[in-house]
Amino acid sequence: MAAETPKTMSGVVIEKPGGVDVLKHKTDLPVPEIKEGELLVKNEYIGVNFIDTYFRTGLYPSSSGYPLITGKEASGTVVSSKHPRFSPGDRVAYLGNAAYAEYTAVSASRCIGPLPERISSETAAAALLQGLTALTLVREAAGIEQKLGISEGPWALVHAAAGGTGSLLVQILSVMGAKVIATAGGQEKCEQAHHHGAQWTIDNKSEDVVERVKEITNGRGVDVIFDGVGKATFDADLEMVARKGTVISFGNASGKVEPLDILRLGAKNIKVMRPVLFGYIVTPEEWERWTTELFELIKTEKVKIKVHEVYPLQEVARAHTDLEGRKTTGKLLLKL
Ligand code: NDP
Repeated sequence: MAAETPKTMSGVVIEKPGGVDVLKHKTDLPVPEIKEGELLVKNEYIGVNFIDTYFRTGLYPSSSGYPLITGKEASGTVVSSKHPRFSPGDRVAYLGNAAYAEYTAVSASRCIGPLPERISSETAAAALLQGLTALTLVREAAGIEQKLGISEGPWALVHAAAGGTGSLLVQILSVMGAKVIATAGGQEKCEQAHHHGAQWTIDNKSEDVVERVKEITNGRGVDVIFDGVGKATFDADLEMVARKGTVISFGNASGKVEPLDILRLGAKNIKVMRPVLFGYIVTPEEWERWTTELFELIKTEKVKIKVHEVYPLQEVARAHTDLEGRKTTGKLLLKL
């Protein structure tokens, strides 16, 4: 470890699962030691993702138990490296664990860098997890390219379309040529989804989403649904999806989807998936392919990253409250 690296650091610790009050900012945490193949990164911007709230509440159990430092992504500077591809001083972004802290031990296999000058550290931290999710859901889960040939579509429906992941899904689907219907809570969010490329928007607070989708598609339904909302929307998804369509349920923002009676799928030969990003970025080739494509989309401005707010790390509880309270659009970041 480099001589100038301190022994203690600040970070946010969860002692036990619970509400936002369990997020405790501390200043005397040990700086992690790195193993072969790892880097120690001094974090600059830390991405806030809905998954962080699941680990906070215990919906997703922590495999390492508690106390837990949560946080799945950040950007920052390498301060020491045990991997030949990275050197101290490199500006990087990564996916990992324990990112809600000043320093994080990161696997080189989940790190990209040195970041090109054109990509700011803010954008890199804001784009990585949700961008890779959106890209792999569109290409791997939905196989949208194979669907592009069909005469009437493909029609895609994106829920929470002004959110972090949703806004990227809308942009990527639009760039690829899908007909995009977006749902969002409120007019302002609908306008943002429209701005990102959705041809039709539905305000889920004031409109009947199922009826509107029927109207828009002339009763046909949509070929693929991207649903990160979960419990509140899943039943309606089965109504709105077209014959031979696919429902991609990828999150639980409103709670976990209830167990499904599989016989319901037979009425329209529906496919249902519940994919997770980490299952699409297992091999070095997959990591390289998806990170390269994502950063190309950003560099060429086909995809734009909107940051909702940069919160001081000490205000992480406010960030979680805003995210869970449906008060945000785009990406939330923490800054040290
Ligand atoms: P978002 O920025 O999309 O925020 C969540 C949004 O969900 C809200 O803004 C709100 O949008 C909508 N929502 C609807 N009902 C509720 C509710 N009851 N409580 C809270 N939010 C609600 O968050 P993320 O982009 O971080 O994550 C979106 C989803 O994607 C999450 O479920 C997350 O777990 C999932 N995800 C899954 C991954 C995977 O690998 N499977 C990877 C990354 C994310 P509105 O008001 O417009 O309805």
